[in-house]
Amino acid sequence: MQFKELGKTGKMVSTIGLGCEHLDRKPYERVKEVIDEALNHGVNLLDVFMPGDEVREFTAKALGARRKDVLIQGHIGATDINQQYDISRDMPTVKKYFEKLLRLFGHIDFGMLFFIDSEEDFKNVFETEFITYAEKLKRDGDILHIGFSSHNPVTAARVIETGTVETVMFSINPAFDMLPAELQNLDQVEEEKRGEILRGIDPIRANLYKLCTRKNIGVTAMKILGAGKLLSPEHTPYEKPLSLNQCVHYALTRPAVSSVLPGCQTVAEMQSILGYFSATDAEKDYAPIISSVKNDFAGSCVYCSHCQPCPAGIDIAAAHKYLDIAKLDEKNIPPSIVSHYTSLAASPANCTACGNCEKRCPFDVPIIENLKYAEKLLR
Ligand code: SF4
Ligand code: SF4
Repeated sequence: MQFKELGKTGKMVSTIGLGCEHLDRKPYERVKEVIDEALNHGVNLLDVFMPGDEVREFTAKALGARRKDVLIQGHIGATDINQQYDISRDMPTVKKYFEKLLRLFGHIDFGMLFFIDSEEDFKNVFETEFITYAEKLKRDGDILHIGFSSHNPVTAARVIETGTVETVMFSINPAFDMLPAELQNLDQVEEEKRGEILRGIDPIRANLYKLCTRKNIGVTAMKILGAGKLLSPEHTPYEKPLSLNQCVHYALTRPAVSSVLPGCQTVAEMQSILGYFSATDAEKDYAPIISSVKNDFAGSCVYCSHCQPCPAGIDIAAAHKYLDIAKLDEKNIPPSIVSHYTSLAASPANCTACGNCEKRCPFDVPIIENLKYAEKLLR
């Protein structure tokens, strides 16, 4: 297992976690075996969004004494009215559901303001008792950090700018990243129009990831497989389906992403995801597939590392991540970004302009020119 710090929370999270929602309505034995498999391989981050009593109880029981070894993302406002999951901002209902979660897990490590996608969601959380409730939970030690979940990059950026949250759970996969900000899933795009619409990484989404890095907001990724559509020859928007390893790698190579939280409902599914750690670089390389759609954003780095290896040992994707963040506001570059850049194992200053990387980049990024600019800005 690999671990990464989750933004400014200071918590080290496993880069692969477990989204427990697919354990809903499964027998206890199944919940236990999936959780055991995850924990036995070092998973230490569990997303418990599910509002149902039974699945929450089974999850807590399966953890048992190992509750202390894991970090729980629990959602404030996730409810199930009439057996259907729902978003609630009605405070008695919100409190009832969250307090049940607290009773089962003792405390919640990351108390997530649930599902803030629209302007209305924003107002219903930040201009009501909802946010004061979350802040009180934090003051009382019932939650250790405040986060939120969202699928909308515009609203997510707005929430981050409030300064209240330390982490975000966001839907991340290459197809979503190519959708315009106002669309949040592939079903909103007619199949025959997908090739036209998926033309490159949407700049608003790219800016959200940069904003998170700049403000040190930890990102956990949901929907990394696009509900399985990206793996399906029938439903993929690309020429070929992506593999599991490529989807995991894509999400983990977005700036600020610390962990992916796939929903696994069997031990075999958990094992397949964990297979990422033994995959080769070639098996993880998503660039050839996502570059198969017409790319209107040619010239922008997607941090895929398809350009490696560099004879000078430069981590080209990492250098571009820091450069892109610095370019957001060149006069106020965060010191942490300068420090990360200058600590790269091989300095971009050592680029010999051999051009090998540019020949390999499927996105026509002017790497040599960019590295020179990075040196100017960041050293
Ligand atoms: S041009 Fe520079 S960055 Fe690219 S492969 Fe050559 S030395 Fe490495
Ligand atoms: S420069 Fe090109 S190949 Fe290299 S990480 Fe960026 S997009 Fe990928």
